[in-house]
Amino acid sequence: MIDPVSDALAPYAARADQSRGRRHPESAPNSRTEFQRDRDRIIHSTAFRRLEYKTQVFVNHEGDLFRTRLTHSLEVAQIGRAIARTLRLNEDLVEAIALAHDLGHTPFGHAGQDALHECMKPYGGFEHNLQSLRVVDELEERYPAFNGLNLTFEAREGILKHCSIINARTLGDVGERFLKRQQPSIEAQVANLADEIAYNNHDVDDGLRSGLLHLAQLEEVPLFARHAAGVRSEYPGLAERRAINETVRRMINALVVDLTDETKRRLVEAAPRSVDDARAAGLLAAFSEPVRREADRMKSFLHDNLYRHYRVMRMTAKARRIVADLFGAFLAEPKLLPLDHQLRAATVETPRLIADYVAGMTDRYAISEHHRLFGIDS
Ligand code: MG
Repeated sequence: MIDPVSDALAPYAARADQSRGRRHPESAPNSRTEFQRDRDRIIHSTAFRRLEYKTQVFVNHEGDLFRTRLTHSLEVAQIGRAIARTLRLNEDLVEAIALAHDLGHTPFGHAGQDALHECMKPYGGFEHNLQSLRVVDELEERYPAFNGLNLTFEAREGILKHCSIINARTLGDVGERFLKRQQPSIEAQVANLADEIAYNNHDVDDGLRSGLLHLAQLEEVPLFARHAAGVRSEYPGLAERRAINETVRRMINALVVDLTDETKRRLVEAAPRSVDDARAAGLLAAFSEPVRREADRMKSFLHDNLYRHYRVMRMTAKARRIVADLFGAFLAEPKLLPLDHQLRAATVETPRLIADYVAGMTDRYAISEHHRLFGIDS
């Protein structure tokens, strides 16, 4: 189908009608573009619905207002699309990548992923980016003719943000860029930075809301302090919650504006004439140097004060134990696995199918599975 927005796209944007295609050939959609079809398949997937019950920073049951992987992914999509439209990139592709980027995340956020990686070390390791690709390529069971969602190359390329060289060699087309040290499409680069803008800002908001972070600490972080001062001078006496919301809103806006300005500047300089030109041109989507430094400062602040807060660390320690216990129990006795997972042993190595099962769990499913396996009273 003709892409109705293709005339508005810049020459360096990805075009749905020029996609490198899907792993399993399918006839073209008739009422939407290939990238819209990708987006729609992601939204209808099982893994997407599970994001609602997976930890971003706070475990799902800790409070109703904290971000989950689902609301995080929606915020990434919103920020990514806004940037894409300004830069005349393919919004549908950015949206598809953003909505799918965390599909491979384990329960309990990074703690879960680290624990699963530890367990999987003798069997090829566990990388959440690679797992996101595995979800859309292999694990979803929705179509009669193939495993996975059969997404376009462009969406798969964007989902695979990072990957070790050893794994890249086994991945065919989407692994190539890691070996050639090339970038993905600018749409994928934008989705990646939209992820960073989203979590840096919503973690400030959630951190303050939870009481784990305090305003006085954030005043030490230049990015926050500058915008908070702006809000105070414009609205003296504003209630704290509104002042925080307005500060976070301004920080997001400032990061988005800087990113689009710097990316435009690089695009003018590199003048890519096609999406392949863009892939070969080095990093095109980027913050300016000073803003990159400010964003990094915020990141390390959050790392030290929120992700390493003792209350988060306690949850993290429990999460690691749950994941390690589950993996260990299933590996010692694969007959404990639900039957449909046991049946996969015909085609998948046992440790890998256990990792797929554990990674697919929501926080609360992992907790109750742990109770079922280890609870003496149940
Ligand atoms: Mg993310």
